[in-house]
Amino acid sequence: MDKSIFEKIIDREIPSEILFEDSLCIVIKDIAPKAPVHLLIIPKKPISKLSESSDEDTQLLGHLLKIVRNMAKKEGIDEAFNVIINNGEKAGQTVFHLHIHLLGGGNIEIPSDLKTD
Ligand code: 5GP
Repeated sequence: MDKSIFEKIIDREIPSEILFEDSLCIVIKDIAPKAPVHLLIIPKKPISKLSESSDEDTQLLGHLLKIVRNMAKKEGIDEAFNVIINNGEKAGQTVFHLHIHLLGGGNIEIPSDLKTD
């Protein structure tokens, strides 16, 4: 299997500003931000999408949400933010490596390309 763009970022094969990293995940700024703050929380484990995660990943999934909370506080948007996971092409997923969008700052309207009809 080819590496996803996020695996390449995790492995430092593609440059990206990494705002946070621990043994389980990284946090980067989205390259095409849809809000004043638009971060991606990405597990190091290459799970293609949420529906492909397993019960074994329960702790990891909880950890990712903890990092969302911490990053929202760090970015000063913990009063109001949106968390989005696109699952599957029809739901707008373009990178098939699980990631959580954290959007905030200003009045956030969920961007149409992060919505499903
Ligand atoms: P998805 O549409 O799969 O939910 O979200 C993928 C996100 O990854 C998009 O918002 C897109 O802008 C972002 N993205 C794609 N390639 C790169 C990249 O090379 N670097 C960064 N920082 N973000 C990327």
